[in-house]
This record gives sequence, structure tokens and C-alpha cells, in this order.
Amino acid sequence: MKIRVLGSSGARMPGHNLPAFLIDDFLLLDAGTSTCVLNKIAQRKITHILITHAHLDHINSIPFLAENLVNGHYGKPLTVISGRDVINDIKRNIFNNRIWPDFTAIPDRKKPVMKFMNIAAGSCMKISGYQVCTAKVNHPVPSYGFIIEDPNGRTLVYTGDTGPTNKLWNMMSYHDVRALIIEVAFPDSMKQLALLSGHLTPSLLSEELKKMKKVPDRILVTHISPSYRSEIIRELKKNTGVKTEILSDNKLIRI
Ligand SMILES: [Zn+2]
Ligand SMILES: [Zn+2]
Repeated sequence: MKIRVLGSSGARMPGHNLPAFLIDDFLLLDAGTSTCVLNKIAQRKITHILITHAHLDHINSIPFLAENLVNGHYGKPLTVISGRDVINDIKRNIFNNRIWPDFTAIPDRKKPVMKFMNIAAGSCMKISGYQVCTAKVNHPVPSYGFIIEDPNGRTLVYTGDTGPTNKLWNMMSYHDVRALIIEVAFPDSMKQLALLSGHLTPSLLSEELKKMKKVPDRILVTHISPSYRSEIIRELKKNTGVKTEILSDNKLIRI
């Protein structure tokens, strides 16, 4: 499985892109970044987007990707997948013909550029031979973590944004996980804010790792706030007790 980090930052600033991970060129995991880093050909290869939750930093590039696909998308519609509550929020608040056009009716309803699909928490589905399972995580809005297994059995888990959580770790225990992409948004000095806003700090991450039946081979950290980056990296080295890798934009990971 090839994972291209399009964005892994907790805030948008020059040189810092919002969360998005492109799996084997076709499956986008969150859509904080896509059209500003992928060329036209790469954009057209994306057939599915898994969305963890409807916060703007995870969905903001979907409207521009849909617009770009109007010209020259000859294949199937781009399918945006998440829990029903997340999909409803995106439909009602963005693709509502006011903020942005309803691309599920463009150019027409029979052959649209984009479509939406629901996945229920606790369930699995097949996407082009890849198995995707989902569990709810802990964030102020409905949010889902994903377990993605490629046809060779290589498995990646992505938390999206979450505070301390359990369901995803329970589901993960049934899989042989090569890599976990997990968020750490704040330093330990901001633990209260992290808990209130449904995020993790380095010491909260180490508590989560203790809950796992088996810690995945690789722990890849994302969503670090640029303002606290050096502090968080220092604390991750000191506090977690396992080796973590800090993701950076444009990095290519193979698992
Ligand atoms: Zn969020
Ligand atoms: Zn976020």
C-alpha cells in the first residue's frame, strides 16, 4: 500500500497543508488538501473519498475537486463516503446550490460528477477490492475512524480527529495493522483544551497506546498545530514510550 501525504497539519499556513492521505492513487482519506497539490491527471485518478468528519479542515477541497472533474471525468462518479450524519452535513451545508452547486446533479442526475454513500459505524464495505471498516471516535461532531485493508492484506488505520476513544481500538484488535495514522493536535500543557475539543496530546496518545491489544508496527502522527510543532515533537520523543514518526506533507509511505 502506497500512502502519499498530501497534508498533515493542524492548521493552514504557508508550507502547511490540511489533512489528506492518498492511498494507491485512487482512495483519498480526508480531503483537507487535494486540488492545490495534485495535477489534473492525479485528480482524475481519485474515485473515492473517505471522510472522517465534516469539519472544514477535513473537507474543504471536495468542492474544488468536484468542479475540476466536470471537465474530463469520463469514468464513474467521484464517491464521497462517510457516516450518514456527516454526509447529511456536507450535503445540506455545502452542496446545497447556495454555497456550492449540487454536483450530484451535474451534468445530470443519471451521470453525475459526484455521489454520496453512507457507511454505518461498526460495519465494513468493499471499495475496489479494498476492505474498509469504520468505528465512531470521540470528537465534538460525528466522527469516524477507518481501517483500510488492501487486496494483499496490508492494513492501515486512520483515526481522523479524536480525543480518548475505545471503539476503534476494539475493532482494530481483529486486524493485523501495519500502520496507524493518529492525530496529536496539542502539547501536554494544553491537555484540558485537547480534551474539551476532542483531540490528543503526546501523553494522551501514550494512554491510547496502552489500551491497544497490539500496538501497530508504525505510529504516524498527524494534525500537529504548526505553532506548537517543536514542543509536541519533543514531548512525543520523551513521553510516549514507543517510536513515533511525524508525518510531513508530500511524504510517501509504503506499508
Ligand atoms: Zn475536527
Ligand atoms: Zn481537524
